[in-house]
Amino acid sequence: MSAPTPVLPATLDQIRQLHETAPARPGRPLVICDVDEVVLLFLAHLEEHMGRSGHRFLSHDYKLTGNIADAAGALLEATVVRALIQAFFDEWVERQQPVPGAADALASLAGAADVVFLTNLPGAWNREGRIRTLTSHGMAYPLVTNSGPKGGAVAALAAGRSAPVVFIDDSPSNIRSVRDSHAGSTLVHFIADRRFFAGAEDIEGTGLKTHDWRTATTYIRQVIGG
Ligand SMILES: [Mg+2]
Repeated sequence: MSAPTPVLPATLDQIRQLHETAPARPGRPLVICDVDEVVLLFLAHLEEHMGRSGHRFLSHDYKLTGNIADAAGALLEATVVRALIQAFFDEWVERQQPVPGAADALASLAGAADVVFLTNLPGAWNREGRIRTLTSHGMAYPLVTNSGPKGGAVAALAAGRSAPVVFIDDSPSNIRSVRDSHAGSTLVHFIADRRFFAGAEDIEGTGLKTHDWRTATTYIRQVIGG
C-alpha cells in the first residue's frame, strides 16, 4: 500500500489548453496518453546522452533521482539530476524516436476515442518542438503540458465525460495521482524499456502493466468498446 497522493487542481493554463485543444464530447471515450517512455523513447536516449559524460544508471529500478552516478561513481544530487534532464530535453526534444507500435496503436484507438497527450516537459519553450516531433512520427494529437502529479489535469480533462477514460503513463507517481484523483479512469502502466519495465513495481489499481503497444491496444479496446 502506498500513501495517497494529494489531489491537485488543474491550473488555469491547463484548463484553457484543454478547451482550446480538446473540446469535451461526453459520449466519446477519452484516451489520455503520456509521451516520454510511452510513445517517444526516453530512457534509451537519456542513457546515450548521459554516457557521453560518463554518467550511468546504477540500477534498473524505476527512478532517476538516486539512480544516476557520475564518471567517478558518485551519486548525483536531485538538483543535478533535474539540470541533467533539462539539458537532455533541450538537446533531444526534436530528436526522440518513437516507441515501436505507438503511432499505429493511437491511430487505431483514435477511431473510437478522443486521444490527448498529457506531458510533463521541463521548459515551456520545448512544447512546440515536442509537437513537431510527435507530428513527424504520425502522432498529431492535442498536447497538454503539465507540471507535477497528473491527477488534477486528468480530472479536468475527464470532467463531463460519461464514456470510459483511459490513462497511460510510465511514472508510478502519475499513475497513483490519477488513481486517487479520478477514480473512473482505467490505468495502463506502460514502460517501453524492457529492463526498466522488469524493475518497475506493480501498482495497486492498475488495469494493465505492459511494455508492448499491441497488448495495450487489445486491452484498451476492450475498455472503450468499438
Ligand atoms: Mg513518461
